[in-house]
Amino acid sequence: MQNVFQSPSRVVVLSGGMGGAKFLQGLKHLLPDAHITVVANTCDDMWVHGLRVCPDLDTVMYTLGDGIDRDRGWGRTDETWSTKEDLAAYGAGLEWFGLGDRDIATHLLRTTLLRGGATLTEVTARLCERWRPGVELLPMTDDEVETHVVIEDAEGPRTIHFQEYWVRLRAEVPARELIFQGLAQSAPTSAVLTAIADADLVILPPSNPVVSVGTILGVPGLSDAIRSTSAPVVGLSPIVGGAHVRGMAEQMLASIGVGVSAEAVGLHYGARSTGGVLDGWLVDTVDASAVPALQAAAIRAVAVPLMMTDVDATAAMARSAIELVR
Ligand code: GDP
Ligand code: CA
Repeated sequence: MQNVFQSPSRVVVLSGGMGGAKFLQGLKHLLPDAHITVVANTCDDMWVHGLRVCPDLDTVMYTLGDGIDRDRGWGRTDETWSTKEDLAAYGAGLEWFGLGDRDIATHLLRTTLLRGGATLTEVTARLCERWRPGVELLPMTDDEVETHVVIEDAEGPRTIHFQEYWVRLRAEVPARELIFQGLAQSAPTSAVLTAIADADLVILPPSNPVVSVGTILGVPGLSDAIRSTSAPVVGLSPIVGGAHVRGMAEQMLASIGVGVSAEAVGLHYGARSTGGVLDGWLVDTVDASAVPALQAAAIRAVAVPLMMTDVDATAAMARSAIELVR
């Protein structure tokens, strides 16, 4: 009886948008019968023309619910942009924000329900009744939190919303400082804490370690919950060969003084046995030389291919993650 693959049945995944959603497709493929709870980052959320927009929640919901535009990787299929064009004709501002007509329906309903007193957790469940993502999708907190970025460019020093930094400025100017507005005062939801306590596996997918997973772990009480769950905790590096695969993890790591390497990110998360959050950490085969240092820091580590080229490759990554810690 060697090498029996023991399937976990209650898995919690701490997810950002695109990287997390792609990983979740592979995980669902590997574990079709597991109950998967996704704790999604909400620090990317923003008010846009009076609408509450939740980019990471929506990317996970649309991707797993087959409503995502696959070429862009965000927003709806068969999207049109009439409202955005008319807002531009008014000179209403925020022209850089990709607000599609179909997508607006999601934001309208979310905002209406929030204004009516529903929590973001309740609203997300309501939206998922339509999209049926096949996972339990939870915001990391019901409180309003936002990542802001301090930059200095030709327009001078100023603080802008993370979305503006990423979408309008393409993360091309250095991020001097990150401000996680509301995060230190936020509370984790009972749904999130219960899911973590009841899990038999917790996964940190290859999501941004600063503005996706970092913000989730920044909700007061959430990393304590991860430290005290009886489930093993395993992560997969979003940094491969000293660079992010896509996105702006390099800029974000620089702004918090963490090196841009699979090893540095694993050590930044730290071993659970020494006050961190990880039992295991997967690095890509090109980063195999990082394994001894991680193991010396009490983190089980293995080097396997970590490029999510298709659903089978991604499922194989998820399987390696499970095998590392079970
Ligand atoms: P975002 O909210 O849309 O930025 O998405 P996430 O935070 O969930 O994921 C972004 C991270 O995913 C980036 O740091 C990327 O480096 C990482 N990423 C994207 N594709 C891959 C891949 O194929 N393999 C690995 N290892 N990381 C990836
Ligand atoms: Ca995001």
